[in-house]
Amino acid sequence: MPYSYEAPVSQGLFDRASRVTPGGVNSPVRAFGAVGGTPRFMASGRGAYLTDVDGREYVDLVCSWGPMILGHAHPEVLAAVREAVGNGTSFGTPVRGEVELAEEIVSRVAPVEQVRLVSSGTEATMSAIRLARGFTGRAKVVKFAGCYHGHVDALLAAAGSGLATFGLPDTPGVTGAQTGDTLVLPYNDLEAVRAAFAAHPGEIACVITEASPGNMGIVPPLDGFNAGLKRLCADHGALYISDEVMTGFRTSRAGWFGVDGVVPDLMTFGKVMGGGFPTAAFGGRADVMRYLAPVGPVYQAGTLSGNPVATAAGVAQLRLLDEAAYDTLGSVSTRLRALASEALTKEGVAHRVQSASSMFSVFFTDREVRNYEDAKSQDSFRYTAFFQAMLAEGVYLPPSAFECWFVSTALDEQAMERVAAALPVAARAAAAATPENAR
Ligand code: PLP
Repeated sequence: MPYSYEAPVSQGLFDRASRVTPGGVNSPVRAFGAVGGTPRFMASGRGAYLTDVDGREYVDLVCSWGPMILGHAHPEVLAAVREAVGNGTSFGTPVRGEVELAEEIVSRVAPVEQVRLVSSGTEATMSAIRLARGFTGRAKVVKFAGCYHGHVDALLAAAGSGLATFGLPDTPGVTGAQTGDTLVLPYNDLEAVRAAFAAHPGEIACVITEASPGNMGIVPPLDGFNAGLKRLCADHGALYISDEVMTGFRTSRAGWFGVDGVVPDLMTFGKVMGGGFPTAAFGGRADVMRYLAPVGPVYQAGTLSGNPVATAAGVAQLRLLDEAAYDTLGSVSTRLRALASEALTKEGVAHRVQSASSMFSVFFTDREVRNYEDAKSQDSFRYTAFFQAMLAEGVYLPPSAFECWFVSTALDEQAMERVAAALPVAARAAAAATPENAR
């Protein structure tokens, strides 16, 4: 493995972890299964950098899979967390921070009239679907192949993210009954959605889609796709659910809604809104949200929902995300995309960089990627070599060709220069890769 190097302390922890935890990790993609080598156990993060337990420093282009949009250990977020922790960590009662976080979300994202806080993106999408079914009195859910909405049983059909990475078509443990009401359609194909509504009149409760998918790599909606989904849902009495767990508060102040302006009935959020803590949300039309307990009949609850420490972190982070922050994210992303493309072009590596605002990913193919089938047809073995070389050069990329690169406002000139210096080395590794030698 030419571009790997020893990471003895990480390896020791991974060995210990593997004895007591399945695969040594608490979320599959962290195991480096798609790229090989030792998963790096991180000891600390500051600004644009992570430091592993072996003392090596990396420029972080994963940002905890999205949340750390201001970089690590931002002083103002830390101060808010310290203050909250000093007052106690969980009360199981309403707290001021929940109100502030809900108000922050409602004020940023116009379609959200009311919002309910939960603890993970998975919970947000699961609850939004339950609510859509309760509100419409219908059972069927439309989702798109390659879109990942967390590990909700009903949505683990042709999902992206870790499932794309590992090529699992579905997962054992999810029964036919649980996915029997899920219709999986090709992404960016409005005709398929039209046909599904025609084939199942009065049966479809909702269409759920990533606002702009990032879990099969970045595959933005084609012009008019989201608007077409909204129209079809409205015409057929179904709810349009836009999953903004990844794009929310990242692609603009108001997430992807701030980019395309299509008004969903329900939306889901996570990642950025929690400031690095487990907080997520779903919200939307007040008449739909009022179907939730305690005012309505659809049950939904959570012991740690609206946790005071998590909400304090989320409020602090969102308040720091002003237009200047989004400009910074946009300019570092533009520069990184150009650098990656330049390095790969120089080495003659077929590639395509696709982006959605500051989110982007590199596909090892020269064709446009419009859906999951396109994404799967890339030469992902080249990404393996590319990833390992970047890691060896001190840049932490997502350990899978099917994931998004996340930038932070903390990416300063020094960090950008490190990435710029690493990319030509990684491009050479990608050029030299074959399916046999990549790992
Ligand atoms: N929805 C989308 C679009 C996501 O990207 C993710 C996670 O990556 C989820 C839902 C699930 O969120 P969580 O991992 O917090 O459960």
